[in-house]
Amino acid sequence: MNDNNAAQPSVLKIPADDLHAYVCAIWEQAGSAPREAQLVADHLLAANLTGHDSHGVGMIPRYVASLGDDELKLNLHAEVLRDAGAVLTIEGNKGFGQVVAFEAMERGIERAKQLGICAVGLRGAHHIGRIGHWAEQCARAGLVSFHFVNVAGDPLVAPFGGTDRRIGTNPFCAAYPRTGKPPLVLDFATSAVAFGKVRVAYNKGKQVPPGSLINHAGEPTLEPKVMLEEPVGSLLPFGGHKGFGLAAMCEIFGGAVSGGFTTHADTLGTNSAIINCMLSVIINPAAFDAPNAEAEAQAFVDWVKDSPLAAGTQHIQEPGEPERVTRAEREAHGVPIDLTTWQQIGDAARAVGMPAEQVERWAGNLR
Ligand code: NAD
Repeated sequence: MNDNNAAQPSVLKIPADDLHAYVCAIWEQAGSAPREAQLVADHLLAANLTGHDSHGVGMIPRYVASLGDDELKLNLHAEVLRDAGAVLTIEGNKGFGQVVAFEAMERGIERAKQLGICAVGLRGAHHIGRIGHWAEQCARAGLVSFHFVNVAGDPLVAPFGGTDRRIGTNPFCAAYPRTGKPPLVLDFATSAVAFGKVRVAYNKGKQVPPGSLINHAGEPTLEPKVMLEEPVGSLLPFGGHKGFGLAAMCEIFGGAVSGGFTTHADTLGTNSAIINCMLSVIINPAAFDAPNAEAEAQAFVDWVKDSPLAAGTQHIQEPGEPERVTRAEREAHGVPIDLTTWQQIGDAARAVGMPAEQVERWAGNLR
């Protein structure tokens, strides 16, 4: 237990397989077909296992709320609106992002293997969660990929030089597969900190790092309450004008090029759920005349890892390494879930019709 008080832990450690089974049971109870429930559970558990709890099982209450608002539709599939060979336009129809993004990647992977490259524009998906999951799907097939995503119509981030919320936390992700080694996976929100991390700081009564937030007047602040209490402030993009620029390209490539929508006055707040649009470019590295590509990539990784360490650094990590370390630890010792989140997941299970005694049985058995 991750707590000093063994009698009343504030954080549970739940075996990943058990938690996965509970998540499947919740979504099957809600009406998902078994495959859908499984894909959702696979994704949420992988987010927790890799340390991104903000995109893990704690999202279930939010998804159940979206279901109640008819903003999340069960048992839908990726719909190919246009097949232009190496360019696919796919509609998500507010289906589970965990299903429609998986199917969109399946199609893109198949096409990239045939043609060497495929650009997939996926639009109108309910929350597609941790984007690294989709890059890893491509990497398992031996394919390079990069992904530009917008959080359509739900701004939390101020533009560089601006003072109010205009952009989503728009994630960017890229992955490079390696033979006999895990892929390199770069995957981050373009805000200085993820919104979920601001909420955690707020709940713990802590401040956020400098350069993360501005208040409603556009002044820098360390107080997370500006994201959760009126008058609301904004997150800042990471890396000043550079992060802002990348966030803008995620918005345009993800939201506009895909045929989806971007955030502006006409789309602001048009959906209560999180709607994502994603432009994925999937490439077969074997299609290049580049027999030394893997050796060159690895030589570079070894080279940077050999840099003399800065004070306080144990070793230099490659993109995706922190997630692998966390995964190994959590697979061995369980997924930490705080009691509030655990309670909220139980409430969500009851809200989709799981009998109270069944929820108790799951919750009791998993503690
Ligand atoms: P983060 O700040 O934890 O950065 C993660 C990335 O940085 C990973 O690639 C990781 O391997 C790398 N990294 C972290 N520490 C490192 C170190 N010390 N050395 C080398 N590399 C290191 O991520 P974040 O911005 O908090 O984003 C969290 C997740 O939220 C992502 O998976 C993202 O896809 C997801 N997200 C999703 C949405 C959505 O709408 N679907 C929106 C925003 C973010």
